[in-house]
Amino acid sequence: MPYAAFTGDCHVLQKPTLETLQGAAADPGIRGLMIFGYAFPSLEALSGFSALEVLKIQGAPQLTSLEGTETLSALREFVLTTPTGSDGSGRHIAIESFAPLERLGSLRRLILLHVRPRDLDLSAIMRMSQLEDVDIGGVPELTVEDFARLAMALPGASGRCLAPYCVIAGIGRCGKCGGQQALLVGAPPRARKWVCPACNPKLLAAHVGRWEAVTGTPYVDGQRR
Ligand SMILES: [Zn+2]
Repeated sequence: MPYAAFTGDCHVLQKPTLETLQGAAADPGIRGLMIFGYAFPSLEALSGFSALEVLKIQGAPQLTSLEGTETLSALREFVLTTPTGSDGSGRHIAIESFAPLERLGSLRRLILLHVRPRDLDLSAIMRMSQLEDVDIGGVPELTVEDFARLAMALPGASGRCLAPYCVIAGIGRCGKCGGQQALLVGAPPRARKWVCPACNPKLLAAHVGRWEAVTGTPYVDGQRR
């Protein structure tokens, strides 16, 4: 899905070497960094960026660990996604765990798309109560119940994954009635993800029911945005 995550005032690097990264880290004027093709196994290669506020990485084929966050203490925004065009292709950035993210004490915005932690554990992110904007998607094993628990843990945050479904204007037109479909959050693998509220109200209600079974309160449309 299109995502306006890669805009902003960032220094852009294409497949940087360690030497290039270290050079950029020594430049005090760089507060935002966008990397296309991050070629390292962890975030340790970014250890010099102690003043970095924005880090966006698109494509990280070697990444297996998010270790290295301890030196990124000024980071306010972290975006990690697969390359454009790989949505739905089944490709993932396969890492061990989201746990190292918890050290990012200044983080306000966290976007992780098609980043699959082997432990499938959201508990570290649930403890990041300072987060204001969160989206985690493209991990088929994460369920609507997982996201409901995340939403309960982060009552002050907003984001597509913090509601049982979201509506993306202009995307997901119903083939039957022409109306706007809803995108289910945490839909099971291989199940349908787009549901028309007018044509499939029962399917949508069943999905929302699973969310409400976790939160214990009725979900009001749009309550998180
Ligand atoms: Zn319809």
